[in-house]
Order: sequence, then C-alpha cells, then structure tokens
Amino acid sequence: MGALPKQRVTRSRQGDRRQHHKLIPRHIVRCPNCREYKETHHVCLSCGFYAGRQVLDIEVARPVAPSS
Ligand SMILES: [Zn+2]
Repeated sequence: MGALPKQRVTRSRQGDRRQHHKLIPRHIVRCPNCREYKETHHVCLSCGFYAGRQVLDIEVARPVAPSS
C-alpha cells in the first residue's frame, strides 16, 4: 500500500501551501519608439526596437501569408 496522509489537510492549510501559486501580472510599458504596449526588458514586437535601436526586422502585413 502506498503512503497515506495521517491527517486531513483543511482548505485553509491547503490554501496556505498554495499561496505562491498565484499569477503575477506582466510589467507593461509603452514602447518609446512606437508608443505600443510592450513588456519591460523585451524587444518591442510592434516595431522591433530595443534599447533605442532596431534589433528585429518587422515584416509589414502581407495580403497572403506563404505557408512555409
Ligand atoms: Zn515599438
């Protein structure tokens, strides 16, 4: 037989154990280049800027996206 709990864990103690399981909200700021919302310390996915310079080539929306 496997291990069995010696005592019932109340909902209160179960919640105490899980108090760190909460979701943490992302830190959102405005991109200084394009004013779009982005995460702090992340490249702006809208314009591809990070630390005041272009680090990503952002493709302009195409009429038909290729499958590859
Ligand atoms: Zn941007």
